[in-house]
Amino acid sequence: MGYRSIICNRPDGESPDQPLYAEIERRAKEQGLMAAFLPVESGKVSDEQSVAFGQLMAELPNPVLAYCRTGMRSTTMWALSQAGQMPVPEIMERSAAAGYDLKGVARRIANEGKTPTEVADVTHDIVIVGGGAAGIAVASSLLARKRDLDIVVIDPADVHFYQPGWTLVGAGVFDASDTTRMMASLLPRGVNWIKSAVAAFEPERNAVILDGCRVVKYKQLIVCPGLKLDWNGIEGLSETLGRNGVTSNYRYDLAPYTWQLVEKLKSGRAVFTQPPMPIKCAGAPQKAMYLSSDHWKRTDVLKNIDIEFCNAGAVLFGVADYVPALMEYVKMYGINLNFSNTLMAVDGLARKAYFSVAQPDGTKAQVVREFDMLHVVPPQKAPDFIRVSPLADAAGWIDLDPATLRHKKFSNIYGLGDAGNTANAKTVAAARKQAPVVAHNVLADQGMAKGVAHYDGYGACPLTVERGKIVLAEFLYGGKLAPSFPKWLIDGTQPSRAAWYLKERILPSVYWHAMLKGREWLAQPEMVG
Ligand SMILES: Cc1cc2nc3c(=O)[nH]c(=O)nc-3n(C[C@H](O)[C@H](O)[C@H](O)COP(=O)(O)OP(=O)(O)OC[C@H]3O[C@@H](n4cnc5c(N)ncnc54)[C@H](O)[C@@H]3O)c2cc1C
Repeated sequence: MGYRSIICNRPDGESPDQPLYAEIERRAKEQGLMAAFLPVESGKVSDEQSVAFGQLMAELPNPVLAYCRTGMRSTTMWALSQAGQMPVPEIMERSAAAGYDLKGVARRIANEGKTPTEVADVTHDIVIVGGGAAGIAVASSLLARKRDLDIVVIDPADVHFYQPGWTLVGAGVFDASDTTRMMASLLPRGVNWIKSAVAAFEPERNAVILDGCRVVKYKQLIVCPGLKLDWNGIEGLSETLGRNGVTSNYRYDLAPYTWQLVEKLKSGRAVFTQPPMPIKCAGAPQKAMYLSSDHWKRTDVLKNIDIEFCNAGAVLFGVADYVPALMEYVKMYGINLNFSNTLMAVDGLARKAYFSVAQPDGTKAQVVREFDMLHVVPPQKAPDFIRVSPLADAAGWIDLDPATLRHKKFSNIYGLGDAGNTANAKTVAAARKQAPVVAHNVLADQGMAKGVAHYDGYGACPLTVERGKIVLAEFLYGGKLAPSFPKWLIDGTQPSRAAWYLKERILPSVYWHAMLKGREWLAQPEMVG
């Protein structure tokens, strides 16, 4: 199989059917292999043994086969020897891919391979992981119910982003700076902030482990770190983003480049992509396309531009009621719709995008498209440290009860926002409704509130079909329509000026001054019991 060395981590005499190391060494030498003996008792991998393992791996000719009985001890030592060199989630993920669950040593890995002390650095009643839309909203909703709670938000970011504004930055309507605030200015008064990233969870011990292995203990934990944009999931994309006509409204610093490209393009081909679901704001890939098309229409160059929408999915929008209105715009702008087209690679210099296209017979074909402008939405997944944690479901998202937002296995843990596995649209609109539900249920668990609050799956997507008009999709679990306004004011299935006014003028203020301040406008939770 090509191995050049063997490390035996199994003490001699562990079971009656086991060859002794001396025999292994002799046979290895006969085959021209190097061999080393580093016996470790099951379940007792020491820090020193892990260091020795790392040294052997560095000294022995590669590739190395290390073995014990099941492989757990060898994998554990490999993982601990890599700590500090490779990110913790990558170590956990590689081990999991090889069939080994190392959650039990996550804290040691985070502590660069050394056994940490048992002492908690700090303890708080309520710990919130992530100070994004969901995290700040839930902290404020808790305080709106009870002022003197002991809450800490853990988030490494200096800056908080209003991401729904990025669509309008990409269309030249907002300045990028309109969409940011310093994190320190947004944290509600009385809430503590630990400016650090969470690396791992130990729910059995009510502890989260921070980068560098600081330990924070809690009575109740709320997890909302958003999702991971997988820019490296598309070959060649990272190298060319922000150059060669390749852009994305999914990054704060690139949304202004979208607008530059749109203004500059007078003829040629514009390609807009959408990755497989789930993604945050499922409408955002096409919002960028409609607003760009609208600018080209207004400046009378639309006829010179060939517009392609390449969607990995099979439909234009997941809730069918909104599709007819969107199709009117697709026709008006002359957009070519390509479904089951997944962007795989980008060659920025050659201005070529490579797609995998599902064929009716189940096979995949490669299609190459040339472009002058390429707007990419990257594949999205749960953050690495969530995916490898005990909180994750099989797909890597936080495993939540869809109504109460309580973790399905750990009763003192809740989750909300993009990182959850509930079937709502991943949007600020959803987090706005989820925050009061979680706040109520957390307090009810402590006997500070009565009844159980339920989340109905509300999410909203303002589809900016032209500058000045929006198709306002609002729906619950299962795609059931849930308009917030009477039809005479906003009919969500039709393009509406009032909905544009709402998105441009009202919703940013609702976000900064209501949702993030615990003022639950149109977001009172439904109570059961
Ligand atoms: C281009 C675009 C357009 C959109 N349009 C809309 C729209 O029109 N309407 C709408 O409702 N929604 C829209 N959204 C979606 C919306 O922005 C998200 O659904 C929302 O921000 C999710 O909130 P969140 O708190 O779950 O995650 P986020 O707001 O992303 O916040 C996550 C926070 O967790 C922190 N964090 C990450 N890792 C760690 C860690 N290890 N430890 C501690 N903290 C961590 C991050 O620093 C961040 O502060 C849009 C998004 C984009 C990108």
